Amino acid sequence: MKLLVATRSAGKQREVKRLLEDSGLDLVFPEDMNLFEDPAEDLLETSDSFRANALAKAEHFAKRSHLPTVADDSGLEVFYLGAAPGTRSKRWAGATGTAEEVDAANNAELVRRLAGAPALKRMARYRCALVLIRTVGAMPEVFEAECAGRILEAPAGTAGFGYDPYFFSTDLGMSFGEATDAEKDAVSHRGKAFKALVTALKE
Ligand code: IMP
Repeated sequence: MKLLVATRSAGKQREVKRLLEDSGLDLVFPEDMNLFEDPAEDLLETSDSFRANALAKAEHFAKRSHLPTVADDSGLEVFYLGAAPGTRSKRWAGATGTAEEVDAANNAELVRRLAGAPALKRMARYRCALVLIRTVGAMPEVFEAECAGRILEAPAGTAGFGYDPYFFSTDLGMSFGEATDAEKDAVSHRGKAFKALVTALKE
């Protein structure tokens, strides 16, 4: 079965390819279908709910592709910051440039906001909402997962993407920046949500 994964993020695409490697699904991404970026996409992620944003993305891409489509909306919530950056994780610092430059600016913002905060105030979690639309007009199916951790004062490791070098995973006892791909996938918000999606598709 062909499945459109409605994300343009290189970091997410890498992870999703890994997570669905043994699923037997034939994965395609927007650019494979000649679905190039359109200004309407900026208006798809305006909610402060991961689920609502994933639903808007899935509907948009399912209508454009006429393929079974899954969209992921995910982000980091830091309890001391009132669950920020949350759904604004991708563009939190307002930086533009390459993915690496945007990630660096977001991480600098995280360090700045948490300067001097003790360990308890550094508690955080990643959240992921996946919405699957099998055919246009069908009831969307939702898969949500999270993983717990805390924000380090200094980065550890260089693996992963986004906030990973600063995210110390409670499950792993190390940062996602230090984890191997398999270690991160086994406990991560996205790993767990995609596992649930694959189970549903096999039922
Ligand atoms: P989205 O593409 O609008 O869902 O934004 C996701 C953003 O959340 C990314 O750009 C990262 O900043 C952050 N994020 C989500 N998942 C991860 C992860 O697994 N590692 C690091 N950062 C993540």
